[in-house]
Amino acid sequence: MIRFENLRKCYALGHQSVAALKGVSGVIETGEMVALCGPSGSGKSTLLNILGLLDLDYQGEMAFGENASALSPAPRHPDDAARLRRCQLGFVFQKFNLVPVMTALENVAYPLHLNGMSRAAQQRQARQMLEKVGLGECLHQRPDHLSGGQQQRVAIARALVHRPSLVIADEPTASLDSQSANQVIDLMKCLGHEAGTTFVIATHDPRMAQRCDRQMNLLDGQWMQEEMQWAV
Ligand code: ADP
Repeated sequence: MIRFENLRKCYALGHQSVAALKGVSGVIETGEMVALCGPSGSGKSTLLNILGLLDLDYQGEMAFGENASALSPAPRHPDDAARLRRCQLGFVFQKFNLVPVMTALENVAYPLHLNGMSRAAQQRQARQMLEKVGLGECLHQRPDHLSGGQQQRVAIARALVHRPSLVIADEPTASLDSQSANQVIDLMKCLGHEAGTTFVIATHDPRMAQRCDRQMNLLDGQWMQEEMQWAV
């Protein structure tokens, strides 16, 4: 689970300071799929960057663990954060962010390579993951030979291949037609459920938000009123 308390983030903009998060608290249970919603500028990306340990320069407390009695404070040192990101976190982006010169198989194997797995095991696990997302026929294709929906399925395979406990997704269906978007939503739900993965998904897509277990709504860097009842 993830517990965060009173998260605050200000960006410096010239001589001014922009308060992007104004003290948000919450708990996300292990295996939960949460939609993070809110209008543009409400603080979704800022919160995702903090939860995903991409931004360590924030105020407030955050802890990760299997359950409430086994929580460890989130790392604040860049090396510790990088280590935890490699082992425990997966990321899915709106624009897929695949490495263009790598094949689908190489893209999916890459997180396993970073984690020091042997080449044979990397290839085996990446191939299995691509088969699970329905791309067993496209292992050796480069991203520019795949459709947007196929590229996002490769990105989902890459995000999940090392069995992370948390996947952070930023508008994963925003660049897709509705059929591909539905496939991507189904895949994230099905694979996440199978592995007990927690998902935090920033989305404007009502189809995506409705299929999640819960919606958390940000407005101007704070939870909208209905979220207050469960926020810590
Ligand atoms: P969302 O993802 O909901 O669109 P963001 O987290 O990107 O919201 O932005 C929240 C607020 O922080 C907005 O007012 C935005 O302009 C501001 N902001 C985001 N990133 C920066 C930055 N790097 N520098 C200055 N202001 C920023």
